[in-house]
Amino acid sequence: MAKSPLEIPGPLGSSRTRSWLAGFRRRTHPILAILGEFLPRSLDFLISIIVLLLLSPVLLLRALWSLYQTGDVLTGDTLIGRHRMPFRRLRFAGKGRFRKLIVWLNVFRGDMAIVGPRPLDAEEASTIPVEDFVRFAVRPGMISLFGVRSRIGLAHDAESVMDREQYYMQTVRGDLGLAARSAVSGVLGGSSTARLEMPPVLNFFGVPVVNTTMNEAVDWVIVNATGTKKRLMFFVNPDCLNIAWKNADYRAALKNADRVLPDGIGIHLGCRMLRKALQANVNGTDMFPQLCEAAAREQLPVYLLGASPGIAEAVANNMIQRYPELKVVGTRDGYFEPSQEQAIVDAINNSGACILLVAFGAPHQELWLRRWREQLAPSVGIGVGGLFDFYSGRIPRAPGWMREMGLEWVFRLIQEPSRMWRRYIIGNPLFLFRVRHQAKNPDKFPLPEGGHATDSFYRH
Ligand code: UDP
Repeated sequence: MAKSPLEIPGPLGSSRTRSWLAGFRRRTHPILAILGEFLPRSLDFLISIIVLLLLSPVLLLRALWSLYQTGDVLTGDTLIGRHRMPFRRLRFAGKGRFRKLIVWLNVFRGDMAIVGPRPLDAEEASTIPVEDFVRFAVRPGMISLFGVRSRIGLAHDAESVMDREQYYMQTVRGDLGLAARSAVSGVLGGSSTARLEMPPVLNFFGVPVVNTTMNEAVDWVIVNATGTKKRLMFFVNPDCLNIAWKNADYRAALKNADRVLPDGIGIHLGCRMLRKALQANVNGTDMFPQLCEAAAREQLPVYLLGASPGIAEAVANNMIQRYPELKVVGTRDGYFEPSQEQAIVDAINNSGACILLVAFGAPHQELWLRRWREQLAPSVGIGVGGLFDFYSGRIPRAPGWMREMGLEWVFRLIQEPSRMWRRYIIGNPLFLFRVRHQAKNPDKFPLPEGGHATDSFYRH
């Protein structure tokens, strides 16, 4: 007997409660839409009044100081606002501190919001692609998703793409969350790095770390994957650099690698101590899906070696589901006897892989790749640490909001406190202490001659 629509679960059916709910939603939708439009603006308005009142003594003094210096109180830049209408972002005239505080007047007037895409100048606005025009449907803000992510080094997409993401995800709760993340990441990642030098290669304890972007790093792998030269690429976080400080073999493996990339908020903090700006946090876990996508597009076969039995295979299945064109030509766990190593290398070579990902953890994977480099057929070997555990689903990764605050390590610490406390509670301060030592004694930590690990793909 055919079931009545009331009994069929899913979108084909309907139930009394559902139709009642749907009706309610239909009727309240216009009210919610109007509230959605006015609530954020009302909140901005209220908050700006409170902030302006609280700051009024500072603002008054600053206004007098500007008047004394220049004969003017306010100046500003013409920027592009909501609906592409120009507005003047205010600044106090003259030199000195607190010049930008008066931007709260822009929020009060409604030219700007507290949270919203960064205001652009006319030239920048003219380069925004049509598909990203939604950024002009909202007021530009003091806190943007792009700003928060770039401070932590996680701005791996174009700004306009992130503005679009911010627009579509925007809710009052989301905005409050972004403001909170901005505050925390401001403490950890620091404010603007605009005044710091951004060298192409960073030096941590004599290890050359390439200061690049995620896209360039992926391109480098793809271009080299079909080359005749054997290339090794590693990632370093503070824990790795602490190991390198003591372990000469590992240090040599890093110094002789073709590329070492910066992983995590600790490196970001280290850079600030050295008065250098980090371009991006180019960590393996964020790179992996991008690399798989690029390898699938270019038809480059990949081999996954490492982690507990079954994990690499689960990663392969998950990634193939996501990128059906991806060719994973072999997997194998990372627990074996030294006597099995030759057979493992033979299996990798017979698979036809161009890219080999090795996940044994540091320093084991780097030393292993260095030892077998010449016998291995894949053109690019990459040490990827514990990332197979994440992509197999064995260990959950920290949620995006935690990563955006630079607190992924706190999540890892909570997950495996007995293993991680030494790495983070002792290791992170120790790393920063050692960086401070390097900052005071730069001559003790020269980079290797010949520029290993410094070659940029774009310079060739
Ligand atoms: N592992 C392995 N063989 C070993 C020891 C470890 O394959 O002999 C794997 C382990 O299962 C885990 C990864 O190496 O998947 C190390 O993870 P960890 O989180 O320590 O790496 P990290 O990214 O922190 O360097």
